[in-house]
Amino acid sequence: MAEIRNCKECGKLFQYNGISKICPRCRRKDEDAFKAVREYIYENTGATLTEVSEETGVDEDKILRFLREGRLEIIGENSALLLECERCGKAIRTGRFCDECAQELKNGLKDGFEKVDRLKSKGDKQRERMYTAERKKRR
Ligand SMILES: [Zn+2]
Ligand SMILES: [Zn+2]
Repeated sequence: MAEIRNCKECGKLFQYNGISKICPRCRRKDEDAFKAVREYIYENTGATLTEVSEETGVDEDKILRFLREGRLEIIGENSALLLECERCGKAIRTGRFCDECAQELKNGLKDGFEKVDRLKSKGDKQRERMYTAERKKRR
């Protein structure tokens, strides 16, 4: 069923297709902006975020969003345009987390991500180990 939503970008109503949170017009604009940024970065590998933004006319926020979404990848020696891992602050090329953190988060999600949970399970494991040790002793 068609659903009408407000475009996250311009606020106008549009028919939500279940995927994009912005209207077709903004999506096209977004796509153009993305292409412009990508081309500029590929051609000017030393450009900073500000330079890219000024040259392409695309908001810095938007450029960062492209990077965070993993759509744009920083290539080659473009060290001026690095993102930081949201968890450990390490420089990354794309997405939100560095490889290690992404991996850890993935593992963390498996055994219940919450710090408290992790502490608790650690304690449980320790108790378990102690229990096994005690049992071994008794035997
Ligand atoms: Zn829109
Ligand atoms: Zn990290």
